[in-house]
Amino acid sequence: MVASIKPHADEVGLADGQLLIDGSWGPAESEETWRHSHPATGEDVASFPIAGPADVDRAVRAARKAFDEGPWPKTRAGQRIKVLRRVADLVREHADELLALQALDNSVPLSFGGVYGMSGSFVADVFDHHAGWVDKLSGETLPPYQGGDHMVFTLREPIGVVAAIVPWNAPLLLTAQKLAPALAAGCTVVLKPSEYATFSVLRLVRLIEEAGVPAGVLNVVTGPGDPTGDALIHHPMVDKISFTGSRVVGRKIIEASAAGFKRVSLELGGKSPAMVFADAEVSAAAMITMGTVTLGLSGQVCLAQTRALVHRDACDEFVATSQMIAGMVSYGDPFDASVTSSPLINGRQLDRVLGLIEQGQAEGATLVTGGTRGDGDLAAGNFVMPTLFTDVSNDMSIAREEIFGPVLSIIPFTDEDEAVRIANDTEYGLAATVWTSDVRRAMRMTKALRAGTVGINGYALEPHAAFGGFRQSGIGREGGKTSIESYTEVKTVMLPLTDEMM
Ligand code: NAD
Repeated sequence: MVASIKPHADEVGLADGQLLIDGSWGPAESEETWRHSHPATGEDVASFPIAGPADVDRAVRAARKAFDEGPWPKTRAGQRIKVLRRVADLVREHADELLALQALDNSVPLSFGGVYGMSGSFVADVFDHHAGWVDKLSGETLPPYQGGDHMVFTLREPIGVVAAIVPWNAPLLLTAQKLAPALAAGCTVVLKPSEYATFSVLRLVRLIEEAGVPAGVLNVVTGPGDPTGDALIHHPMVDKISFTGSRVVGRKIIEASAAGFKRVSLELGGKSPAMVFADAEVSAAAMITMGTVTLGLSGQVCLAQTRALVHRDACDEFVATSQMIAGMVSYGDPFDASVTSSPLINGRQLDRVLGLIEQGQAEGATLVTGGTRGDGDLAAGNFVMPTLFTDVSNDMSIAREEIFGPVLSIIPFTDEDEAVRIANDTEYGLAATVWTSDVRRAMRMTKALRAGTVGINGYALEPHAAFGGFRQSGIGREGGKTSIESYTEVKTVMLPLTDEMM
């Protein structure tokens, strides 16, 4: 039963949001606001300002000034490490509050707050991990190749002003994956949270301020893609756009970056395959696969294994276990410990998911369970029942589109070659899993898969391991050395050691 979400908001002390520009919190110049409607109940919870082009301009100029005049980009490594470690400590101390705010944002249940890296502790680990890079961002010393007696070496310098734009599904984690490397590298930032998950991000930003990040280094503009995001990606003083979200907006970002040749990192969507062989622990494979698609965020996860490629001999067991998992999903108040999954984020996404389920049936897939909207106590929210399709072929819409809802498609295969062909027959390439008890087969499949991450008999996110996609799943990686280096420019220095001209 989902009663009102408002008592939880009162308990957490959720107040209306504000913009952070040059160290001061305040409203938008236009005084326009966005009302946050909770996805489980449809209630208005609180509001925040919609930053227009003038607010975005002030925020970018503040970040530019803080970068050009310092002190942050020139701060000693030891000091920057201390600040980032303090952020990690504060996030751990405030983990419960952050998770409660996240539940008020996107309705991810508290019982699942820690899964998929959405817990306060994983977010803290991301800051700790990047703090460790600050004193290791080094260049190279090269031997002279020609000419006189001279030295050649490289420096890694912060890239400048970063526009960080995040989606709503894992707002804390995805904000941390951008802010931690940007701040560690010495960049300054204008952050735009999603209009569907703003409040948890604003609290995280207050903790970062409290940790000692100087005024102007981190600025926050709230509001939707139009006008806020659009003004940010087109601002000429932005050096890099770091974006996580949909392909549609990712394309707009590439277009916007062309004018000033801004650097771009994109973490986009997926249509990830779970490859399940008959020699695997088939029930475990089904539990995890159906779990990533239905539990926690109801499949609104970029790395959800939404295409289960199952060996024909394992199909019956896989379907039976998936059905069992579907029966265990419980929806409702995200603050109720017995609730294990969430509604869809908004009405637009609800209509889209129901439309794709209808299309799946029309194209000939068999609907085994689910496929309908939540009714009764759930009718006021955007709930869709856990949905399982069999007899899916890889050319159907449900096998090609990123549905971002609780829908698993089971596609049978007969041998390794067919499994690889189906797995790679997608425009995406984000995450994949391989389920088998044969380690050599696991490695053959891992090498053949075109995906940024491969889980073997399981899947885990790690804060220090690069995460990102092949093909239309994105450009660049988050986590690890690749990520921090993408917030730097390389400068080559030549130093003659004598008066001889080079
Ligand atoms: P979205 O693209 O609609 O929005 C993402 C962000 O972009 C939001 O802050 C939004 O306000 C902003 N935005 C929208 N239009 C804009 C514009 N014209 N200019 C600038 N900014 C604009 O995505 P979403 O619905 O919030 O998130 C779902 C998508 O994110 C899915 O495709 C999912 O796969 C992807 N995702 C990817 C990863 C990853 O790491 N690869 C992680 C989580 C989510």
